[in-house]
Amino acid sequence: MAQEEKFDAIVVGAGPAGISAAITMANAGLQVVVLERGEKAGAKNVMGGILYRQMLEEVVDQAWKEAPIERPIIEEQRWFMTRDAAMRVLGHKNFRHRERPNSWSVLRARFDPWYAGKAEAAGALVIYETVAERLLREGGKVVGVRTGREGDLLADVVVICEGIGLGARLLEKAGLKAPLKADQVAVAVKEVMQLDAGKIEDRFNLEAGEGCSIECFGDSTMGLSGFMFIYTNQDTLSVGGGCLLSDYNGGVISAEDVGRSHGRPVSPNELMEHFKNHPAIKPLLRGAETVEYLAKLIPEGGYKAIPKLYGDGYLVCGDAAMLSNPVHREGSNLAMASGRIAGEIVIRAKQLGNFSEETLWEYKGRLDHSWVMADMKKYDGAVPLLEHNPQFLTKYPELLDRALEEFFKVDGLSKREKQRRIIKMFRKEAGLRFLLDNLKAARAMGFLPP
Ligand SMILES: Cc1cc2nc3c(=O)[nH]c(=O)nc-3n(C[C@H](O)[C@H](O)[C@H](O)COP(=O)(O)OP(=O)(O)OC[C@H]3O[C@@H](n4cnc5c(N)ncnc54)[C@H](O)[C@@H]3O)c2cc1C
Repeated sequence: MAQEEKFDAIVVGAGPAGISAAITMANAGLQVVVLERGEKAGAKNVMGGILYRQMLEEVVDQAWKEAPIERPIIEEQRWFMTRDAAMRVLGHKNFRHRERPNSWSVLRARFDPWYAGKAEAAGALVIYETVAERLLREGGKVVGVRTGREGDLLADVVVICEGIGLGARLLEKAGLKAPLKADQVAVAVKEVMQLDAGKIEDRFNLEAGEGCSIECFGDSTMGLSGFMFIYTNQDTLSVGGGCLLSDYNGGVISAEDVGRSHGRPVSPNELMEHFKNHPAIKPLLRGAETVEYLAKLIPEGGYKAIPKLYGDGYLVCGDAAMLSNPVHREGSNLAMASGRIAGEIVIRAKQLGNFSEETLWEYKGRLDHSWVMADMKKYDGAVPLLEHNPQFLTKYPELLDRALEEFFKVDGLSKREKQRRIIKMFRKEAGLRFLLDNLKAARAMGFLPP
């Protein structure tokens, strides 16, 4: 490529955010180049992962039907766990998802190359093994990027979709984003475990080709703030989870409230082994062989951690913009939606011939008036609540476990006496704090006004 070639837009990163932006802009005839440091799309990406249909459809319309997905998710489950019990607190098997899936399990190594191919088919140039090393600026305006392999590339606008992590430092280096703090990111790990498709269907009670998701809280993470998951793929399981980086060192957990981590440092690997060996999980994984092990960061800083999303000549989308909703394990959808909206704003800027902050601020305006920022605001307090109140993931699941044991046990006691015992136990061991905590949780989850 000629040195200093000029494009309408440079997109940094070929993840869901970058490719959504690229497809949107290329479809409108803009000259778009996508820079990806991996040798192919998806090579550097890790995700659970559940991908959502609607946000994909908003970018590629009905072409989602050809996407290389693993299984449509027919059943969602949420479990609370103690050391020797598992309680399914939420479960929804929805056969309507057979016709029109809400979500699918995906493996990014298969999905991302297909999605990047859609950007190329729309006319975008995707260049792999090329790192955007720093933003080029002229008088404060971003005018392009310096790359390792392709020299300096110039554009009217740079759409920064670099994700987060050690390799994603473009914004930080340019002073456009504060360095991440340990309580703003989760360290997530994931194993892809091979298991015969028929065995997956038998063990998870699924029809052929259908999938389910299970997310586990409490002892699954040794009481640390986060959750573990199992997602069913075609002939593999995605098994993993994540916790706040600040929690792994055990430092934020007070001695009286600790779960099984006992306030000592826990490694992601230890967390994984602990989960895989839980008596409710072990039989689900029996005979499954680990074929891949991956680790990555997830933004969990909430609304307050969002950096400035626009400026003269640049926009920021997806994980790079700290857009994620860990309570609902959503990230890819926020990435796709923000990438698409950024693309639409760039198209408008091109029509106006104005790529300054005055035009590009509309990106933030559109996000502010969408579900994206509504959700970011609603869940802003959820992660700190769990971080500072480990009883939600330690003591309360234990109490629920004992209450359910009492409830189900047939031991000659009258049901009235059992109810009395359960209420007494909650009063004695959790007391007023239990009520106040649940009020706090209801507020943090947006069920009650702040
Ligand atoms: C274990 C795990 C499980 C998850 N599970 C789910 C889930 O079930 N559902 C869900 O919706 N979300 C999930 N997420 C979150 C989801 O993966 C992210 O929200 C999503 O990938 C964000 O997309 P993105 O395009 O912003 O960033 P990314 O997907 O991280 O893509 C960024 C891309 O930019 C490239 N890049 C970075 N810096 C440069 C550079 N300087 N030059 C060139 N290229 C660069 C990277 O190689 C990468 O390909 C999970 C995340 C993890 C870690």
